[in-house]
Parts: sequence; C-alpha cells; structure tokens
Amino acid sequence: MRLGSKYLEFRHNAMLFVMAAVALVPFALGHLLNQRLDLALVVGLAAASFGLLAAYVLWTRSVGLANCLLMITGLVAILVAMQLQGIYAVYWAFPLILAIYLLFALVPAVVINVLALGLLLPVMVLQLPAAHSSRLLVTLALVSVFTYLFARNVQESHEALERLAEVDPLTGVANRLRLDETLQDCAERLARHGLPTSLLVLDVDHFKAINDQQGHVVGDRILAELGSILRARIRRIDHVFRYGGEEFVIVLSGTDLLRASGVAEDLRRRNAQRRFPDGVRLTVSIGVAELDRNESATAWLARADQALYAAKQGGRNRVCLADRPARASAS
Ligand code: GH3
Ligand code: MG
Ligand code: MG
Repeated sequence: MRLGSKYLEFRHNAMLFVMAAVALVPFALGHLLNQRLDLALVVGLAAASFGLLAAYVLWTRSVGLANCLLMITGLVAILVAMQLQGIYAVYWAFPLILAIYLLFALVPAVVINVLALGLLLPVMVLQLPAAHSSRLLVTLALVSVFTYLFARNVQESHEALERLAEVDPLTGVANRLRLDETLQDCAERLARHGLPTSLLVLDVDHFKAINDQQGHVVGDRILAELGSILRARIRRIDHVFRYGGEEFVIVLSGTDLLRASGVAEDLRRRNAQRRFPDGVRLTVSIGVAELDRNESATAWLARADQALYAAKQGGRNRVCLADRPARASAS
C-alpha cells in the first residue's frame, strides 16, 4: 500500500508539516500566557513533533513513516485537547481530513479517514452537547466525502494525462517515453530470475517512396494500421513502442532469440501479404536481438539496430538476427 501521495514531492510534505507546526505555535503560547499549562503542553508537543517530522522528511527524503506519525500525533492531540477544552479542539479535525487526502494515496487515505472519524465522532457525541455534536458529525462527514471526491477526480485526471503522454496518437502504441525504463526492467528480470527477453526493431521499407507516391495522409493511415497489427499480434506482457517515424520497437518478455525470430518472421510475412489503405503493398525489415546477461539495455538496443541495418543491407523484406555480444577478453 502506497503511504505517500503520488503527486506530492517530499519537500511539499515537509512544507505542509512546517505550516501545521507554525499554525499551532501562537495557540501554545496563548495557553501558556493564560496559565493553561496542560493545553500549552499538548499543543506545544504537537507543534514540536510536526517540526521534527518536517526535518526528518527533509533529511531522509522519505515520507511514508512521517505521514503516519503526523496523523497519529494530530489525532491524539485533538482527542486529548477535546478532553481538556471541548468544542474548540474539534476545529482542527477539518484540516486534518484535508491533510489525509493530500498526504496519502487514495485507498489508504479513505481507510485513515474512516478510522479518524471512527475515533473522533464517538468522543464528540459523549463530550459535546447534541446541538454541536450533530452538526459536527454531519459537517465532518460531508468534508470527508467532498475531499474524497476531489482527490479521486485529481487522481483520475492525472492517470488520464499519464496515459495520453505515453501513447503515440497516430498509431495507438506507446511512444518512446517509457522505452528506456522497460528495457531496464527486462535487464533486471534477466539478472534476478533468468527470464529471457528479446527485442525486435521493425522498419517499413522504402516508406519515403510510399509517402511520395500516395501522399502523407495515406502514409499516416498505413502507420496507424501497422500500429494496430502490432498491438494485435503481441501478448499482454509484451510492449510495442513507436521508436521513430516508421520504426517500431517490440519487447517480447520470456522469449528467447529462436522464438522471437519466429514472431518476427510471422510479422514480416503478414505485412508483405496484406493490402494496406488504398491498396498499398509494403514490406518491413526486422532486426532481432536477445538480451545477454552481460550487456546494458543500450547495448542490447544497439545490437537489434545493427541487425535491422543488416536486414536493410541484405535487400530488405527480411529478418536478421543479431550476433551474440562480444565478450571482454580475460586479461
Ligand atoms: P528504408 O527502407 O531504408 O527504411 O527507407 P525509408 O524510405 O523507409 O526510410 P527513410 O528514413 O528515408 O524515410 C522515412 C520516411 O518516413 C520519411 C518520412 O517522411 C516518413 N515518415 C516519418 N514519420 C511519418 C509520419 O508520421 N507520417 C508519414 N506519413 N510519414 C512519416
Ligand atoms: Mg524505413
Ligand atoms: Mg526508419
């Protein structure tokens, strides 16, 4: 379960903690001046804890534990202050609810919100006159629901934007944004679990000529159809990226070179047999490389690229397999 919000950076968390601490200081001083040492102690301790938690977050750059401690401290301080001061302490429950949704991801935020209300509401009902407790019950519940709806809206918009930013609008496949990360993940999976992964780099042959003869609009429609073909051919665990204009990278998880070459050959054949928009016929060249244990993601992609180059040099409309990477000679 994610205990930090997806959107807040650790510095923002620290800033929020400092704001809470600063807001409490005048009240702690006021209680001190009014000789309410008990209240001054509760509020002062809460302010000091928030300040310390801010320093901890800035020092460690991690927010999960600090967020939890802030919530526990805040809740305990409100509950104790309610015993000492009654209704005045309840005002702090409103910013606390807002802070829950600012600091935590949506699901843990709902759980903490329900727990917090579960603790606060019975104490209010017992401590306060019915006229106050009934209104507080309703207003705190409403603030919780409205804040949840707002946070959910933000999360959904954020996820939609993330999806939009990662998808190539013409072909519907992923753009290059996550390619490096995906290749890196494959390298880690091979190192940890020995899971083989292969890479196909596919490029449309003589696409410039197709564009020149048929026009850019038809060229676009062909690329869109090619994107659909690639998406339909791969499994859920695989990935397709539009690498450049008419060039695609396909990452096949759990697939060795032999099986990947089979997939590549199938793709090559299907494309060569197909009639694309406006009856256009085209061919593709494909370079295939299986990730080696001792190579980086960049070197892997470079080998697949070299294999594609060999396919082009060999006359196009063909699949070429990359050589195994050269081993560093033992000294
Ligand atoms: P090769 O067989 O060597 O790959 O030749 P090619 O003509 O396919 O390669 P080249 O790199 O010379 O040309 C690629 C062409 O792809 C040129 C460019 O106009 C076209 N292209 C790139 N992006 C798009 C696009 O989004 N839409 C269309 N219609 N064409 C594009
Ligand atoms: Mg090309
Ligand atoms: Mg190209």
